[in-house]
Amino acid sequence: MEKEICWNITTRCNQNCKYCHRFLNILDLSYDENINILNNIAKSGVTNITWTGGEALLLNGIDNLLKTSYDKGIKNKIITNGKLLTSERIDKIYKYLDSITLSIDSINDDINGSLGRGENHFKKIKEILDYIKKKEYAVKVRINSVVCKNNINSFCDLTNFLNNYDIYSWRIFKFMPLREKAVINKESLDISSSDYDDVVKYIKSNSNIKNIDTRVEEDMEKKYVLILANGDIVITNKGNDKKIGNALNDSLNLYL
Ligand code: SF4
Repeated sequence: MEKEICWNITTRCNQNCKYCHRFLNILDLSYDENINILNNIAKSGVTNITWTGGEALLLNGIDNLLKTSYDKGIKNKIITNGKLLTSERIDKIYKYLDSITLSIDSINDDINGSLGRGENHFKKIKEILDYIKKKEYAVKVRINSVVCKNNINSFCDLTNFLNNYDIYSWRIFKFMPLREKAVINKESLDISSSDYDDVVKYIKSNSNIKNIDTRVEEDMEKKYVLILANGDIVITNKGNDKKIGNALNDSLNLYL
């Protein structure tokens, strides 16, 4: 049986997305402390780790953590905004990864800029996709996109663009005012369920990607066991985050 956890290993990020609902202002643990958590995760029989943040690739020692996890037989999935994913970094870490999930919401960098992605986000994602395609690396490529007011009319272009690549799955999130920044920006970004459904319908009829997956706020409820940057084990229940332990000391078996 597969046992999955999602490890938000740092709250730091090098982008500033307006819809971001990551936890904020938690200090990173040391490399040795993260190795202790990883040992605990492996002992608990976890088969899959989704490494995320913040931007997981910012964390000191993350490449070694991915290798150590891979050596323990764990399937690693990483979610990244791609900003630090140079070709050299891809060459180094792709072999430890089952999948790389790239976040992109539009091929229009004015829209990406308005969402807080910074400059040239589309160009960077395109470079990464082209590089992995050229190298024929055996790593699944997944895409995450958030649908909100700013990009709701740009999914035709994004769908056409992604059709040029061998993408394993595309997860379409409805904007979710779960916590932190996303709550502050709810007014300017929120969309109706029917508008979201129309986007999903369009994508499903026009995309070559076989696995199109959707996520709305209710899906986040108890769906994931999260480990935060300080080791806290958290589940989300009725819109509230509830700490249920700490992975530095507690076995994860109780929660999986
Ligand atoms: S959504 Fe992701 S890339 Fe954007 S600020 Fe949040 S953690 Fe960073």
